[in-house]
Amino acid sequence: MMAARNRGKVYLVGAGPGDPGLITLRGKYLLERAEVVVYDYLASPKLLRHVPGDAELIYAGKKGGGLHAFTQEEINQLLIDRAAGGRTVVRLKGGDPFIFGRGAEEIEELVAAGIDFEVVPGVTSATAAATYAGIPITHREYTASVAFITGHEAPGKKESNIAWDKLATGAGTIVIYMGIKNLPDITRRLIDNGRDPQTPVAVVRWASTPIQHSVEGTLATITDVVRERGIRPPALVIVGEVVRLRNTIDWFEKRPLFGRHIVVTRTREQASELVAGLEEQGADCLEYSTIHIEPVEDYGILDAALDEITTYQWLLFTSLNGVTYFFRRLFARGMDARSLNGPKIAVVGRATAEKLGEYGLRADLVPEKFTGEGLAEALLAQGVEGARILLPRALRAREVLPETLTGAGARVTVAPVYQNVPPQGRKDELREQLADGFIDLVTFTSSSTVTNFLTMVDAASDEELQRLLAGVRIAAIGPITARTVEERGLTVDIQPERYTIPDLVDAIVAYYQHADARRN
Ligand code: SAH
Repeated sequence: MMAARNRGKVYLVGAGPGDPGLITLRGKYLLERAEVVVYDYLASPKLLRHVPGDAELIYAGKKGGGLHAFTQEEINQLLIDRAAGGRTVVRLKGGDPFIFGRGAEEIEELVAAGIDFEVVPGVTSATAAATYAGIPITHREYTASVAFITGHEAPGKKESNIAWDKLATGAGTIVIYMGIKNLPDITRRLIDNGRDPQTPVAVVRWASTPIQHSVEGTLATITDVVRERGIRPPALVIVGEVVRLRNTIDWFEKRPLFGRHIVVTRTREQASELVAGLEEQGADCLEYSTIHIEPVEDYGILDAALDEITTYQWLLFTSLNGVTYFFRRLFARGMDARSLNGPKIAVVGRATAEKLGEYGLRADLVPEKFTGEGLAEALLAQGVEGARILLPRALRAREVLPETLTGAGARVTVAPVYQNVPPQGRKDELREQLADGFIDLVTFTSSSTVTNFLTMVDAASDEELQRLLAGVRIAAIGPITARTVEERGLTVDIQPERYTIPDLVDAIVAYYQHADARRN
């Protein structure tokens, strides 16, 4: 609670234009402490990740999703009620709250009701759209002034608040919010009042998001361009000579994976590294957590092994989750890393070694090939006959490693420490995106992500599966995962040489760069 002694407070916070990275530090700080968040259609839903799990989330959007839309009066009342009840409320608005955001109207109501408030500015969509479309809204050689106007009021009506005669030639750059519907009127007004019909114009839809779409024309042509290219709101119109600089400066839409819609099928717990890597290259990531990780019900085997851990020669980790859940149990039993000074530790790959490092331990052995087979080979080379080996891992997993080691005379204890459960829901959304041809690529980072993805797709037959995945590329992190894909009659298009997430991202980028080169 930030507000003093049970007095609620409303923070009117600018969410920025769409890219969730464009909120201010102050805005993020307030979201992290919010008890109620009232958010808009234009505020990125990804920002809600910052909000505490027990906070009340209220969608007050004016558009979209068939969801209930509140009137402005209802929103005002909601803010007053929640704050009067002593709660810390964040009112999150797209862009900047005071730029065509009705922020002031909400504040006026709060003042009238005697509610405390604060306002946090945001990156307004005009500057973001221009920047992300490669247009500097001012430039010493092109323009010394810029005007922000609303295109929402019908420019034809007599009582227009906009002095079109002064604006048309009075401002170097003109940025128009909410201008798509009235674009024919707006362009005509500007031309009739003396602006050169050849003035370049750009229109940017969903600026700074992975689905940003921008088009160019002139005052004379842009209306047709927008209609032909199907540009709908929300979009901004930028008028002025500075639009020419786009040829040089355009950067956002030029990133290697821009415009690619990529399904990421990792567990929710692990998706972030792959998503971050792909988004960094411009991809639109559709996160479907096909697996959910849970503890096992019975830790009996691990507990017994931990009681005599010093009698083991090797402790093996074949997954990040294996490490995480092993230590959870170790700590739950009041032990810590010092208890592990008996056995040597081997891990399947670099990422697992890094995870182990987070617990203050260094792996004694990392195989050259990051697979169960690779690890088995490396251990056999050390000689394992008679050795006691502890393997904390998933409840259901491949048996190659324990079988190979047992075959070589080792005494292996397989201790289940976590399990994969397929999550429910979002199946329809996935099937729809596949059927619409919206998805470019599906990524798989383990065999279980393949199995669970296909369970989620739930094709009635092989033919339906082929039809849904026609034109969809498939990336697999390594050979085992690839084999699982191929066993289901599908083809792997992308596979990195080394089985790590950064290598997978690089392979995807390289694939599309070649594809683009072929296309040109
Ligand atoms: N307060 C907001 C503007 C709200 S008015 C701000 O400061 O940005 C709504 C209009 O803003 C939309 O009709 C559209 O013209 C513009 N807009 C908001 N977000 C946008 C985005 N991501 N891309 C393009 N236009 C956007």
